[in-house]
Amino acid sequence: MKDNAVIAQTIKVRNPATLEQIAELTVASHADVAHAVAQARKAQAVWQSTSFAERAKLLYGLRDLLLDEQDKLADVLTAETGRPRAEAYGNELFYLCDAIGLWAKRSAGYLRPEKIRPHFPLMWLKKVVTTYSARGVIGIISPWNLPLTLTLGEALPALMAGNAVVIKPSELTPLSALFGAEMAGKAGFPNHLLQVVIGSGETGEALIDHADMIAFTGSVETGKRVMRRAAERLIPVSLELGGKDPMIVLKDADLERAAGACVWGALMNCGQACTSIERVYVEAPVYQPFVDRVVARVRAIRQGPSEREVDLGSMTSETQLRKIDAQVDEAVAHGATVLTGGRRNPNFNGLYYEPTVLVNVNQNMSIMREETFGPIIPIMKVKNAEEALSLANDSPYGLSGSIFSRDKRTGWQLAEGMQCGSVCINDSLINFIIPDAPMGGMKDSGFGYRHGAEGIRKYCRQKTIVVDRLGLKEEFPWYPASEKKSRQIRHLLRLLCRSGWKNKIRAIGGLARS
Ligand code: NAD
Repeated sequence: MKDNAVIAQTIKVRNPATLEQIAELTVASHADVAHAVAQARKAQAVWQSTSFAERAKLLYGLRDLLLDEQDKLADVLTAETGRPRAEAYGNELFYLCDAIGLWAKRSAGYLRPEKIRPHFPLMWLKKVVTTYSARGVIGIISPWNLPLTLTLGEALPALMAGNAVVIKPSELTPLSALFGAEMAGKAGFPNHLLQVVIGSGETGEALIDHADMIAFTGSVETGKRVMRRAAERLIPVSLELGGKDPMIVLKDADLERAAGACVWGALMNCGQACTSIERVYVEAPVYQPFVDRVVARVRAIRQGPSEREVDLGSMTSETQLRKIDAQVDEAVAHGATVLTGGRRNPNFNGLYYEPTVLVNVNQNMSIMREETFGPIIPIMKVKNAEEALSLANDSPYGLSGSIFSRDKRTGWQLAEGMQCGSVCINDSLINFIIPDAPMGGMKDSGFGYRHGAEGIRKYCRQKTIVVDRLGLKEEFPWYPASEKKSRQIRHLLRLLCRSGWKNKIRAIGGLARS
């Protein structure tokens, strides 16, 4: 008897905008996950011998299906996240279609065997090649904020590399991943190659106990737990964790553009993007005009249910909503001023929080230090670019950041000095949707990359193959050892490695004598 037959637990999925239950799903037990991985392993054994062209064809088929079913997909996405429909199409679906194009076209090139020319001339007698091959079954554990991008989107490079994938989506938003897997089945992906297991932390733990690698996206605390558990089996992990992304606005910035990018970068997906702008540092001379522009734009934001033409929906997680409420309250208690928003939206029952602009904040407040992950824009006045950079780097996180300045040199210098994995100059958020470019974190924001060559190579074992070119019966370092050989090695090392031509000439003499 399967152990989940004894206690078949379920999770209830709610629409956060209405708080209505929209699904009840059975949780995968440890045994279920083990079974899913075993099935995936069988499917992978066949899949790994398919060509890149065959895999790409299936990906394109999946893309066509997703486009045909985009309205259904938007229904599922908006229902489980509370996001506006425009974001379902414009962000998640757009990302997925674009990412399919990238991985279908570029995977073969990223994983082509690479010839290596050794730097040491003696090794030119060998042919050296490094190759990439699939790891086996990749476990993907995802958060709730981008339930398609961070599940199916994350699976694409793993599949193109020849792996099978088992996804453990967030317990808050499992429906989009299920929909994606269903579409993959319809598109002709082999049975069990891409599976979804439902549940919360325990299901995630079971996946770590059976998969060959874990690609985790989520909070820092859970990331550490995932890494500890993976260490027991010595399986690799990639950790895409939280952020507290800073934005710097210098006095020569185009303020209109900076304000627009700030509002979009901070509020897209209700501020629930890993790379959302979470704190803004503005040089004193332009502080007030910048704040005025941001407030005007935020006041014009339309918030409401996904059926209406709105810019902002509800939040997705009640825990997160309580957290941001507490952060705003704490900031206000310590002297911050709310210029707009600052409370739950009283017009709706669901998890709506008004888009909020806060000023008179300081670096000690949790709103400037801890991840917020909500529609809050705290803005702080700074003396100059140096102070802005120092405050931006005064954080345990290092995911991404943005800088606004018309001076290209200053912008570039600040970007180089910012302690984070990616920086946008005169832009915001856009780095995430350029899947050709590696994206990862520094410090507590994790390690490992999604996107670009690194984003697919992480799903591969790398193997180096060395081929002898000459076919000699004997090689110099082979047995037997002798005094003469030792002398020759000493002279040879001096010839090849010692600086100064006189030493080299001496070494040639020594070699000739020995
Ligand atoms: P979370 O860490 O609570 O959960 C993430 C996933 O881990 C969920 O599927 C959860 O069920 C699972 N999980 C929980 N405990 C586990 C355990 N012990 N073992 C294995 N799996 C376990 O995060 P969340 O609240 O769902 O998501 C929000 C966080 O995600 C934020 O911190 C945000 O910054 C981060 N995030 C990061 C990126 C990035 O690319 N860096 C992208 C999106 C979100």
